[in-house]
Amino acid sequence: MISTLFDKEGHLTEDALEAFKKGYLDDESLILVSEHIANCERCASVLADSFDDNELAETPLGFEEEIQNKIRNRKQSSFQFGFYTFKVAAAACVALIIVFSNQLNFAANSKVQATCIKAPDLSITNSISTNLNNFSQKIINMEVYNNEKEKK
Ligand SMILES: [Zn+2]
Repeated sequence: MISTLFDKEGHLTEDALEAFKKGYLDDESLILVSEHIANCERCASVLADSFDDNELAETPLGFEEEIQNKIRNRKQSSFQFGFYTFKVAAAACVALIIVFSNQLNFAANSKVQATCIKAPDLSITNSISTNLNNFSQKIINMEVYNNEKEKK
């Protein structure tokens, strides 16, 4: 884990760039570092210079695509807020469906217990619900985080 992503001048530290290149950053740090590189010519060129020929050969597939996406995202910033709202609304809907389906599961489980019939499928349904719940929570967290950051 990287303790300091930014130096005293607010630029990325060597450790942060190294971890970024090797893909060691957690989601939150990755967003911070990517944002900074996209906005700071100095750090972008430090990052570019830090690749030697061997490393370039090992640059993970999708890296360029990711950068292209970032550029496209910047161009769509006016569109983004609407999309943000939509995504949060969608995540909220998923959360509601999950709450509802959990209640169904609960009803089904209690019925099963009463009749003493084993139904292994229900545990799978429950774990899918939990996964979906975590996923929509993650979308909400990430979107709210990004949106708040852009306002600053
Ligand atoms: Zn910088």
